[in-house]
Amino acid sequence: MEKKTILTGDRPTGKLHLGHYVGSLKNRVRLQDEYRCFFIIADLHTLTTKPGKEDIEKIADNAREMVLDYLACGIDPARSSVYLQSAVPEIYELALYFQNLVTVPRLQRVPSLKDMAQNAGIEEMPYGLLGYPVLQAADILLPRAHLVPVGKDNESHVEVTREIAKRFNFLYGEVFPIPDVLVGEVPTLVGTDGKAKMSKSLGNVIYLSDDAKTVEKKVGGMYTDPNRISADVPGTVEGNPVFEYHDVFNPNKAEVEDLKVRYRAGKVGDVEVKQKLSKAINTFLDPLRERREQFSGQGGLVDEVIFDGTQAMRAEARVTLTAVRKAMGIGSVWNRISRKAEDVKKKKEKTGS
Ligand code: ATP
Ligand code: MG
Repeated sequence: MEKKTILTGDRPTGKLHLGHYVGSLKNRVRLQDEYRCFFIIADLHTLTTKPGKEDIEKIADNAREMVLDYLACGIDPARSSVYLQSAVPEIYELALYFQNLVTVPRLQRVPSLKDMAQNAGIEEMPYGLLGYPVLQAADILLPRAHLVPVGKDNESHVEVTREIAKRFNFLYGEVFPIPDVLVGEVPTLVGTDGKAKMSKSLGNVIYLSDDAKTVEKKVGGMYTDPNRISADVPGTVEGNPVFEYHDVFNPNKAEVEDLKVRYRAGKVGDVEVKQKLSKAINTFLDPLRERREQFSGQGGLVDEVIFDGTQAMRAEARVTLTAVRKAMGIGSVWNRISRKAEDVKKKKEKTGS
């Protein structure tokens, strides 16, 4: 049987962090054999909150760092295509068709858009940001994807994609599969501040590329139970980000259980809990660091990966847009007019008028 297709990706706004890994990257790496995989460097999506020239200038370097993170995690360019969104013009066209298949109130109900505007310090919703999920629908449906591995905050976007795909198929005929969303084992990883989800733009992150010392420092400064002013005060484990991270990144379950028991009883200091956590995170990151080093040493490798992936997506895009234009009948409008015009021109040439 033919393999099904995965589409997902990230905005090139900086390096990737632990939240990206647990929310989406882990699933991508795991599913590379089972699915045809396309991973998008969503630079057009970056424009929705960062449209400035100085932001655009940063895209190429950010994209390179991001792809290094992909490779470090185990995304394999021999099996998966990593491509640059802005270099596939069919996306713009498909997004425009899709704009007519969704209403403004529907988009206004997407919960993450207001958060994004707020985080970016934007007071009034730009048209493009409101259309973020529509552009994402174009990304997902361009390779006619079946599965979209993303973090929890993106689930509502994929729901918009599903609605658009259904609407398109209803109006014009079956062109698109209705894609399923696949949320990671940890749907939303909390930030080191314990307040919000780990997010590049909030500065509460541990990057996949952080060195061991930086991890120790960040974990040392992590938010924990604020009521615990000394080691002998019983502490709360539930909702405590330090223990949330232990649950995710410390494979030694007996150690985590022992720490929790002692924490609740006021029999362990924060320092010990945090030291054991940095150790676990560093052990998890060590092989990623090694691979990152290895790949970044091969000058130009990342650019080649993006180039090849983009060519693969362009081929995919041509197939889809041909089917889309045919289903909609939009291409035949021009065909009819241009054919008639050519006839008229030929006749004129013959009669010399
Ligand atoms: P920005 O601050 O620029 O929005 P971000 O860190 O929120 O960046 P995105 O590029 O918006 O990252 O997200 C890329 C993917 O990673 C999405 O699928 C998103 O759901 C997932 N993701 C991001 N942060 C987390 C997190 N803290 N926990 C789980 N998944 C996450
Ligand atoms: Mg985000």
